[in-house]
Amino acid sequence: MPLISVDQAREYILSHITELEAETVHLFDAVGRVLAEDVVADQDIPPFRNSAMDGYAVQAADTASASPEHPVLLRVVGTVAAGMAPNMTVESGVAARIMTGAPVPPGANAVVRFEDTSEVWPPERRPPNGTIAILRPVQPGENVREAGEDVQRGRTVLRRGDRLRAAEVGLLASLGHSTVECVRRPRVGVLATGDELVGPDEPLTPGKIRNSNEYTNVALVRLAGGIPVPLGIARDNVEDLTAKIRRALDENVDLLITSAGVSVGDYDMVKNVLAAEGEVHFWQVAIKPGKPLAFGTIVTEGKRVPLIGLPGNPVAAFVAFEVFVRPTIRKMAGLKPLFRRHFRARVQEDITNSGRRHYMRARVWRDEATGELLATTRGSDVRVQGSGILSSLVWANAFVVVPEGVTFIPAGETVDVELFDWPEEVF
Ligand code: AMP
Ligand code: MG
Repeated sequence: MPLISVDQAREYILSHITELEAETVHLFDAVGRVLAEDVVADQDIPPFRNSAMDGYAVQAADTASASPEHPVLLRVVGTVAAGMAPNMTVESGVAARIMTGAPVPPGANAVVRFEDTSEVWPPERRPPNGTIAILRPVQPGENVREAGEDVQRGRTVLRRGDRLRAAEVGLLASLGHSTVECVRRPRVGVLATGDELVGPDEPLTPGKIRNSNEYTNVALVRLAGGIPVPLGIARDNVEDLTAKIRRALDENVDLLITSAGVSVGDYDMVKNVLAAEGEVHFWQVAIKPGKPLAFGTIVTEGKRVPLIGLPGNPVAAFVAFEVFVRPTIRKMAGLKPLFRRHFRARVQEDITNSGRRHYMRARVWRDEATGELLATTRGSDVRVQGSGILSSLVWANAFVVVPEGVTFIPAGETVDVELFDWPEEVF
């Protein structure tokens, strides 16, 4: 089996993956999705000139001399509430009572807030009914929101490839969209393989272990932006594996993930079956944990479905998922960036390494005093960093990534870390 680097394997896989087509998504379901089209405003926001305050719409020039000692008295010609079309004109000497969001009537060019009028006076001091005293001058345009001041008609407000957050969803609604074209999310079949596996609800008879990989992988698919399609357990024989792969194709998966059976054991059937069902490569990747990896395309009845065969050891499977499957799902779903951002953190203990790229389980935290990121790997002990120790992944929130060729890093050096709990990466 050829030995290839992590970057070579990843580049090869991604060069065979394309973004999926667009689908129409209701705006209620659109958060976290990726836009498949540019969005051009076909109307102004706000659509009309309106008041930013509860107050009185006036001609600003009328208020020039107003003060609490020498108020300006204006005749009130009516009220405009939000949602109404005004039926009056504001000439010099008059005012219209107006609510926030209501259209500014023709003639008016400013709004005086209630707080700057006799509204705040006790009733006995107020001017006669039908009039209002203005206590402060306003400038033309004051407390008025112009049509199109937020978004001008014709502007490209969102672009293909943008990930929709709550704000983008609101902007789409304000432009009159109830649906939006988004990149389809991949359906990802998740298959476990192995004669030793039983489900979480089944009794543990001698020689059996629980199938954890299917559950971890379903969770990881969801976090990566895919739609998981759990396919259960295939036994280590050609008939069952072939049947389960057929089922995956019937389920219209866009990507198939298997675990185990890709190394050199006697019952590692996945290799043989995959080789028969399509064009599949088997690699030894220079990565720790998780050397064996399969990648290829299943071809039947004109369908071509990419497949990634992960190693069986739970931690190796997790690392290989993070490194190879997550970017694949993100590319299909149009999500960017494909890879996790690397941060630098100061490691607390010596690291020894074989020379393969090593994704070490670590905890990263920020030193309150210096603001610096710190990382602990709890040392290179196999009881922590062994590829079957799933509980140490529960303890971890990051990987320290030791580059290829590096065999020793002393405590106190800064290292690359990938935070896999990073909240902005959830979608
Ligand atoms: P294999 O690649 O088939 O040699 O499996 C490597 C190791 O991973 C073995 O110890 C398997 O028992 C274990 N393993 C395989 N599949 C799973 C699974 N779905 N859940 C948990 N452990 C597994
Ligand atoms: Mg096996």
